[in-house]
Parts: sequence; structure tokens; C-alpha cells
Amino acid sequence: MTSVVPASVAVVGVGGLGCPASLALAWAGVERLTLIDPDVVDASNLHRQPWHHPADVGQPKVESAATKLRRQFPRVKIDARRARVTAATVEALFEEHALVLDATDGVGTKFLLSDASVLTGRPAVYAGVLRFEGLAMRLEPGGPCLRCLFETPPTDVPTCAQAGVLGAMAGVMGGLQASLALRPNAAPGVGRLHVVDGLDLSFRTVKVRRRPDCATCAPGAKAVLVDADDATCPTPSSTSPARSAP
Ligand SMILES: [Zn+2]
Repeated sequence: MTSVVPASVAVVGVGGLGCPASLALAWAGVERLTLIDPDVVDASNLHRQPWHHPADVGQPKVESAATKLRRQFPRVKIDARRARVTAATVEALFEEHALVLDATDGVGTKFLLSDASVLTGRPAVYAGVLRFEGLAMRLEPGGPCLRCLFETPPTDVPTCAQAGVLGAMAGVMGGLQASLALRPNAAPGVGRLHVVDGLDLSFRTVKVRRRPDCATCAPGAKAVLVDADDATCPTPSSTSPARSAP
């Protein structure tokens, strides 16, 4: 499969997924990386967020990560934005980047990013990880969106802090996200959901098709962007794909 390096990528969330993903994207040759995260570095994050060191605790995550990225990749333009992505700002974010990477841990934010991807016709890469399980999928214009996978945002998902995230799994899924950012879907209209089980080290890919009644991407549907207020992690064990085909 042909690899295409996007000129600019917005990495939303600079934690367990965003740290390894931004490193891999810089390695791949992305010219401009925008880091977006409202939070500060917390001591409990350090085991799975390699850009953040003990001396950075209390500093904005975007500044901590940007400092390390600029040091290691002086030719990459790094834009650090300490902010939360909102319904008012998300479309502009997509329009100023070739691709948006969803490295957040909030269910509502993930749906906001997916809806904005459909509205703007720009690709995004979704990922979620909890303990030993991970999901990832590239969202392409004309292909299935997150609402084709999960009809509505799940409401019973524990926070990452409650459930725990294995650092190694965050690294695997962040790296996988970066790989998906470099690989447009081979078959337009068909998504590929990558499911990783870190316990038995299995890796499977499920074809995902658009739901004809999807509230966002079905013909005639119109997504309504809604601000998210959450901090949870979608997980294969707590949510099941609404429509998928092996
Ligand atoms: Zn859809």
C-alpha cells in the first residue's frame, strides 16, 4: 500500500496516544504538527506519556511535548495550542490541516471530531485504548464515520484514570494511529477497524461499511456539532460496533 505523508497534522490530545503518534509522524516527515490539549502534565500520566518528564509536572502538556519535539526535530514546525476542541473551533481545525488525529480520551470529543471530519470532508484517525485493548480506524471522506460504528456515544465507559491504561498499549495504538495517518484507505467507502488485544497479542481488522441511516454521514443527513464534556475511553469491551462485516 502506498504511503502518503500529509503536510500538516493536528494531534488532538498529547497524552498516551498523542505522544507516540506525534513522534512517529515527525519521524515520517510531516512538515507541520499542531498539538492541542487543555491539560497540564500530571504525575500519574508519566508512565505512558513519553514526552512528559517528572520535571514537567504542572506544565501545559502541549508546551512539554512541543519542547521535546522541537529539540529532536528542529525542521518540523510545531504549533502548541493549550485549548479544548469545541464545536465552534473544530471545523476550522480540520480546514487548516491535511488530517486530524484523534488522540483524546473523551467519548464526546471523539464523536465531535468524527462529525467534523464528515462535515469538512477531511480525514481523521480515531483510536481508543483501555487497559489491554485498543481500537483504531481511519475516517475518510465518503467512508464510514464513528457513528457508523457506534450509533450513539456510550454513557457507561469508565475514565482512563478509573480503568487504567497500560503504557505499552498506548504506545502500540499511538504508533498504529500514525501509520494510519500515512495510509489512505485502499477501497473508498469501506473503513477498516483495527482491533488489538494486548493480552493474547492478537490483531484483527474488520471491514466497516457506512450505515444507510447514519445520523451524520448518510445521504441527506446533516451533523450537528455538539460540545463534549467528558473524559472517558471508548473500549471494545464496553461498546460493540453497530454495523460491521468481517
Ligand atoms: Zn456514519
